[in-house]
Amino acid sequence: MTGIERVGVHIPRLRLSRNAISAVWGSRERAGTRAVANWDEDALSMAVQAAESCLQDVNRNTIDMIIVASTTLPYAEKQAAAIAAEALDLRTDVETLDVGSSLRAGTQALKLGLNILQAGGQRVLVACADTRLTRAGSRAEEDFGDAAVAFLLGPNTMVHLEPLTTRPSTAVHYWRLPGEQFVRQSDERFGSKIVYQGEIKAAIRVAMVNGDLLADDVTFAAIAGPNYAAVREAANESGIEVGKLAGEAVYDNVGHCGVATGPLCLVAALERAGPGVKVLLVDHGDGVDVMLATTAAAVCQRNALATELAGGIPITYEQFLKFKGLLEAETVNPYTSEIALWRDSRYQIRLHAPRCDKCGAIQYPPRRVCWLCRNKDEFTEVRLARDGHLCTFTVEHLFPVPEGHLITAVVDLSDGARLYTQMVDCRPEEVTIGMPVRLAFRRLHQGKGLHHYFWKAVPH
Ligand SMILES: [Zn+2]
Repeated sequence: MTGIERVGVHIPRLRLSRNAISAVWGSRERAGTRAVANWDEDALSMAVQAAESCLQDVNRNTIDMIIVASTTLPYAEKQAAAIAAEALDLRTDVETLDVGSSLRAGTQALKLGLNILQAGGQRVLVACADTRLTRAGSRAEEDFGDAAVAFLLGPNTMVHLEPLTTRPSTAVHYWRLPGEQFVRQSDERFGSKIVYQGEIKAAIRVAMVNGDLLADDVTFAAIAGPNYAAVREAANESGIEVGKLAGEAVYDNVGHCGVATGPLCLVAALERAGPGVKVLLVDHGDGVDVMLATTAAAVCQRNALATELAGGIPITYEQFLKFKGLLEAETVNPYTSEIALWRDSRYQIRLHAPRCDKCGAIQYPPRRVCWLCRNKDEFTEVRLARDGHLCTFTVEHLFPVPEGHLITAVVDLSDGARLYTQMVDCRPEEVTIGMPVRLAFRRLHQGKGLHHYFWKAVPH
């Protein structure tokens, strides 16, 4: 029996209240917030963060494949899954694949992962993430949010997962042309009422027959949709009690987070589910995928989503525009080189470092002579810890970043290595020497059309 062994969630800490949007544009006030990716986050870095929290204490050598599902990857031509595999320190012969172009990419990646396992694979990692942009003032600006979720699929299943039906569709709901920045949305009544409601209702009807299920057999339903009101209506139309819907907190606090929406609602259901519970996962985007998740035993990591939802940092609408790059601002042209990216990948992306064979001191950045015992060229490459505490920091106001300040940090990692980096996801007044931090995979800078990633410190 194959299915989900572990889950990991990453919700960006920044939150924009929907009222802050309606105050600017004069629309009707709406409750809740949307999660906003920080200025140094993108779909790839968020996928890595969700996957990293999914892989705590997992033997990474057992992972045969990583699939990254997203419609907003940082490169149109250059594989995100290969970069994610490097950042997650997976095997050098791991299979890598990006899946995109449809909001159903998450469930499609899950189904592909299950097929790989049935064909003899050990474990498959699926990471879903999106940071979709809309035109300022559109209704979708209030609906959308940014988030990532990851699943480790394997044989030691805590949740059995099986596909019930798939119903591809050509009807237009959301779309975007190559090179376009903003998602387009069809007429609200047509898109939401006819396409969305109609397709969900038809797919659930077929899925219940295929799975030999009655409405009472299903404890929770995790349904992806443009917003919670639409999801509630779709559930009603399909004979699913609104009380069985999981994911209200996702829509209220995070928003419609692209390919991550349905899978994140599944996590919300699993966090409430006891053993032997059936959850209907209904994913929508150019048609519908319906899957059935059945919990085997009590689900571990029960608070993966709840923990991430707590403790957001409120931002203003102007900050939101800045962080999304929607305001023309001063730019810097940092040094960039594809050769440096290639040369330093092992140390900057995989975050490996040489450890002295004689005295055990870790050398970061790498060097040929041990800083402690002067031993030369006798090192073993090790993977650096992803947690530690803040040794010291400065707050710099001259470098032009969207936040207006840059916290540069020296971090003492729990394995004894010392890392010079930046600190993000916190206000300067929250930063104190000695505070526990963990490392998050973030964008360091861009130049020449290349994204440079590195590990930054965030509060732990
Ligand atoms: Zn040494």
